[in-house]
Amino acid sequence: MIPFVNLVAQRKAYISEFEQAECTVLNGGCYVGGPVIAAFERKLADFCNTKHAVSCGSGTEALSIALMALGIKPGDEVIVPDFTFIAPAECVAILGGVPRFADIDPETLQISPKDVEPLINENTRGIIAVDLFGQCAPFEELRNIANKHGLWILEDAAQAFGARQSINGQEHRACTFGDISITSFYPSKPLGCYGDGGALFTKNDEYAERIRQIANHGSKSHYHHETIGINSRLDSIQAAILDVKLNHFEDELKIRQENARKYNEFFAAYKGFTPQKISNQNESTYAQYTLLVDNRDEFIEKLKAIDIPYCIHYPMALHQQPCFNKLSPIAKKTSIGSEENSSNKTKNCADCISQKVVSLPVCAFTDVDSIISKMKSVL
Ligand SMILES: *Cc1c(COP(=O)(O)O)cnc(C)c1O
Repeated sequence: MIPFVNLVAQRKAYISEFEQAECTVLNGGCYVGGPVIAAFERKLADFCNTKHAVSCGSGTEALSIALMALGIKPGDEVIVPDFTFIAPAECVAILGGVPRFADIDPETLQISPKDVEPLINENTRGIIAVDLFGQCAPFEELRNIANKHGLWILEDAAQAFGARQSINGQEHRACTFGDISITSFYPSKPLGCYGDGGALFTKNDEYAERIRQIANHGSKSHYHHETIGINSRLDSIQAAILDVKLNHFEDELKIRQENARKYNEFFAAYKGFTPQKISNQNESTYAQYTLLVDNRDEFIEKLKAIDIPYCIHYPMALHQQPCFNKLSPIAKKTSIGSEENSSNKTKNCADCISQKVVSLPVCAFTDVDSIISKMKSVL
């Protein structure tokens, strides 16, 4: 069976570099923090061309730390996309905030700016924009909305480290669009480690200091705690592993993009298959190659018959998740697609799209030519 993400082949390809990096950390005796972490954080920030990078325990923790640094308080409302992984909405809710679900664009599958503005009220503090499947969110429009209403933007680039977006002819990397931006190094992300890991990015010195403090028990110096914080750290060995992968990352991104191009070309010949639209100004990391399939059940049966792995990212809109129904009646009552909107539309785009999406293997160690030739035989 073809693996959905071929981490074993990737390890084999760079094995001597991995072993050397791993041994250096293991034999060096410094397992948390220290020079390996400091050097890796500098390298991350330089890669994105931003000022500060702070590593932490996971992408989810990075989101929580960011929200704490941005000063979220109970009752504060934060606008999140209705179609994404649960983490952004979950982190808002666990800190006592109220996630408000904005509908998505039916082609790019990104948070739709025109659906953001109607959700803004006097309790709104910010927008979490997710770079879905590796494509940067529409930041120019989102920034205009945020500026107009005095909101912050938290960029969730868990799937998009390395992605690019041009604004007014200037190219920017993902992780530079938010007041604070975050990424995840979960193993299956485009840049993943061998366990959990994440990072936060900001150009703002004050946010950077708050982030470091919150991630370290609210402490600036040993046993002196200014604020309530948490313990969230990237292990030194994970930084060493990520450092090896980062050296090959640009090459891997090119292969992922070429794999996606091959899929696009293939599916263009068939009716009822529509790949996620990548806007002209964007270069996706293709964390997922995702397409909309009119007759999904039938397509999945065919994939199963030829042993091609697939994933459904994501099977339902977030406002439909039972946890939000229970936790936050306000969020349920006011989310798009709920009772109050049902007179003009019963289903939003997020609901419809969740019934059509399928993701196919696309990593740099996936043989997409052979997957395509197998699909040719059944489609
Ligand atoms: C993976 C992911 C996260 C969470 O990252 P972890 O490192 O697994 O905690 C958050 N947001 C999005 C959009 C993700 O895809």
